[in-house]
Amino acid sequence: MKYVDEFRAPELIAKAGEEIRRLADPNRHYRIMEVCGGHTHAIYRFGLKDLLPPNVELIHGPGCPVCVLPMGRIDDGLSLAAQPDFIFAAFGDMMRVPGTHGSPLEYKARGMDVRIVYSPADALKLARNNPEKHVMFFAIGFETTAPSTALTMVRAKTEGLHNFSVFCNHVTIIPAIRAILDSPDMRLDGFVGPGHVSTVIGCRPYDWIAQDEGKPVVVSGFEPLDILQSIVMLLRQLRKGEAKVENQYKRVVPWEGNRAALRAMAEVFELRPYFEWRGLGFISQSALKIRSSYAEWDAEQRFSVPGVRVTDPKAAQCGEVLKGVLKPAQCKLFGNECTPEQPVGALMVSSEGSCAAYYNYEHRKPVIIASAAAN
Ligand code: SF4
Repeated sequence: MKYVDEFRAPELIAKAGEEIRRLADPNRHYRIMEVCGGHTHAIYRFGLKDLLPPNVELIHGPGCPVCVLPMGRIDDGLSLAAQPDFIFAAFGDMMRVPGTHGSPLEYKARGMDVRIVYSPADALKLARNNPEKHVMFFAIGFETTAPSTALTMVRAKTEGLHNFSVFCNHVTIIPAIRAILDSPDMRLDGFVGPGHVSTVIGCRPYDWIAQDEGKPVVVSGFEPLDILQSIVMLLRQLRKGEAKVENQYKRVVPWEGNRAALRAMAEVFELRPYFEWRGLGFISQSALKIRSSYAEWDAEQRFSVPGVRVTDPKAAQCGEVLKGVLKPAQCKLFGNECTPEQPVGALMVSSEGSCAAYYNYEHRKPVIIASAAAN
């Protein structure tokens, strides 16, 4: 298949739905986690949940980097934005995420220089164009975006650009999956593996999930047919009593990952001994910090930040939703105090947040799925 329409073809989607219903043992309840927030959005946007039998349950995972960032990190980054001649640059996804004293956009409304950038290279360009100011890029993301941050820092060093720094919040996916599997209140049968992260890390890092934990993993693309096919592949394994790692997203994900991207990350980053995740607490070796050889471009080494731990508002149940223990609509604030217009938690803001996906798509039945179901 070559074009996106083919991955959304109603007759193929209907067939995949039938195959899932055929493979699912009616005497068993399946709990499958889609790790990536991009999958969660596709599942709700295209109404895929409605094609599954009731005993195949999808659990939303922690793969939304904006959502897992604790409020204290946002406060730390924004504390620097208040300095004179300082530009705080971040992806658009971050702009409405609440910190204790407001979101980056609210800081902008108060007169601070907050800019949306589309890549770390854009932030570097800002630094070049504003030599009298300091530009700090608030970096977030899993291994998907970490290589571009790394390459931008290499560039800054090569150019000797000293009015640029990075506030690094990059996290790594494998320790988060391990924390979820270690969680006593979580029972899972398999994983729809993250497609974007795997373009960088490849499929091998998931081997332990299959070998040691006995859970199948299928790395998946993001189109409706990709996700349904991945569920078919998982159910086939579960039916045969197998647990292995498979790659459904071969058109994008190389089994061994992207060596050049991994090299760039290794040049600039090392593992933090531990890092706090919203909902999952402190997880050892789960995030990246900037090596001392790049200290001059590391905002945390260059400036002082409060580093205070901030807990989420008491009634917010973002942690339980992130762990997959609660569905978004089960949070007491969902749709009342917390909406995309007035978000309490990051899961309602980010384009990959499960609460935003639920809120925006829950009642919609997209045309393609409706026609597929009618066939
Ligand atoms: S509805 Fe709001 S407060 Fe509740 S889990 Fe979602 S983002 Fe967090």
